[in-house]
Amino acid sequence: MNDKDISNAVAQVLSGYGSTAADSAADAPPPAKPKSGQPMSDLVAQILTDLGSSPAAATTDGAGYVPGSKRCCWSKSPVDDPIDDIVNDLVVKALGDKQPCGVCPHSGSSADVAVSDEEATTLGDGVFATMDEAIEAAELAQRQFLFCSMAARKRFTDGIREVILSNGTLERISHMAAEETGMGNAAHKIIKNRLACEKTPGIEDLTTDAVSGDDGLTLVEYSPYGVVGAITPTTNPTETVICNSIGMLAAGNSAVFSVHPRATKVSLLTIKLINRKLATLGAPANLVVTVQTPSIDNTNAMMAHPKVRMLVATGGPGIVKTVMSTGKKAIGAGAGNPPVVVDETADIEKAARDIVNGCSFDNNLPCIAEKEVIAVNQIADFLISEMQKCGAYLIKDPAVIKQLEGVVINEKGGPKTSCVGKSAAHLLGLIGITVGDDVKIILTEADKDHVFVQEELMMPILPLVRAPSVDDAIDLAVELEHGNRHTAMMHSTNVRKLTKMAKLIQTTIFVKNGPSYAGLAVGGEGYTTFTIAGPTGEGLTSPKSFARKRKCVMVEALNVR
Ligand code: NAD
Repeated sequence: MNDKDISNAVAQVLSGYGSTAADSAADAPPPAKPKSGQPMSDLVAQILTDLGSSPAAATTDGAGYVPGSKRCCWSKSPVDDPIDDIVNDLVVKALGDKQPCGVCPHSGSSADVAVSDEEATTLGDGVFATMDEAIEAAELAQRQFLFCSMAARKRFTDGIREVILSNGTLERISHMAAEETGMGNAAHKIIKNRLACEKTPGIEDLTTDAVSGDDGLTLVEYSPYGVVGAITPTTNPTETVICNSIGMLAAGNSAVFSVHPRATKVSLLTIKLINRKLATLGAPANLVVTVQTPSIDNTNAMMAHPKVRMLVATGGPGIVKTVMSTGKKAIGAGAGNPPVVVDETADIEKAARDIVNGCSFDNNLPCIAEKEVIAVNQIADFLISEMQKCGAYLIKDPAVIKQLEGVVINEKGGPKTSCVGKSAAHLLGLIGITVGDDVKIILTEADKDHVFVQEELMMPILPLVRAPSVDDAIDLAVELEHGNRHTAMMHSTNVRKLTKMAKLIQTTIFVKNGPSYAGLAVGGEGYTTFTIAGPTGEGLTSPKSFARKRKCVMVEALNVR
């Protein structure tokens, strides 16, 4: 097979997409139009057979090229024929030039996308048996994606938002996440999933810088990494898949997810829904993939795979440290222990309300949620009484506090998994106290060394530490944040003290006079992210965090001044 044969083959294949030889292969003779109704798979098999490549009828025995059954772009079956790689690259390139994403008969379909509960964890639609297969598929998808237009990228990321927001999917995945993980509160997960769909930035985040002068024109643009490996937590299983998929695809990558094993079903369901929606939009198949059985071994295989160019870990300190030690470009979005300071100038009634609401949001699972209060002594009693009016159950008896500690803290001194994300009523029930749903949090007074203060509990138990002055409270907040650079809150009307705390604590998110979730953009301005990268410094991640800056230089031209 020579170059001309290959060009001819590509031209013929493209003719099935409504393209022409001149569009795709300038030197090739006019393509033979496929006979009306001739299936594309037959046409491709015929071309490849005529040109001495893989055998025809190649769709089921693993040889040759087949067009994806529901997609515009080409999928390559696993054969070791170098000619096939050449043909594939040319087809991908030429289809890219002809905007394959959007011109095929399947694109733009408004058909409803559905995945039943039974199908959620079966193979297909982005779910693979092995990590190796998933990554190979994502790599091919990303090469095809390179040739899609920015308009197509926007259509695909908008499609992800739409598929989750329609047909009751938001409610379905939120309830399923709460049930499967045994953590959090479905009503609040609906808010978080909606937020991920509506407020995660898209392609508009990828700005271009241009510099022109006597030497010509230079563009600096955000370019994809390639295949990004994303590790997701139990606490925000679907929110992180949605937010990362939008951000990573907007930046032109494909995404391989390593989801938490305790959230397998709901994570795979979300990934399948995304794939089915992308297929209706004519996207390359397998832009968002995962494995059927998530495990630590599979996560390790993903991190070690040479085709994964960037790692993004959203989780606890262990996994963040692991990705940072791989030698690859890594984004680590780790644990927080967000303090909230209340000083004597604050609107105490509002502060009490905001703190109880923020701390109880999704049963305190969010990494940004209030984990300890540091109150200036002068207003501490008033704050406690106002918090009690808003749904705080105060435990004063040291023996009862000890009893609670005994049931929620494990032998290593951290939170018991079975108690993480449980409601205040459930946790109180464990120590024989029965309360109604009006109780939102459990409030205790504690000194700064108490385990409730030092540990990120992720349950609605809020310790309050007293400080003699606002300056002492700020210093203590800095200490208790443990240098995570994650999130902190302050209630005060003293602008100088607010500024002082913001400067000293250096957190990615600093909320003044509001609940913590305002920092996620619930009742606060700005965009959202579910991957807040303190340890590696990206802070609030967005599409540009998943891209690298590249320069394109035109020498001595395109300067029109
Ligand atoms: P986790 O660390 O237990 O798990 C996170 C992910 O890492 C999971 O997919 C898990 O399977 C994987 N993982 C964990 N240890 C691993 C290992 N040794 N090898 C391979 N894979 C491993 O965290 P979690 O309990 O699911 O989530 C809660 C934690 O995540 C909290 O600390 C919370 O603050 C943090 N979090 C941070 C952010 C952020 O944006 N900074 C967002 C959500 C959650």
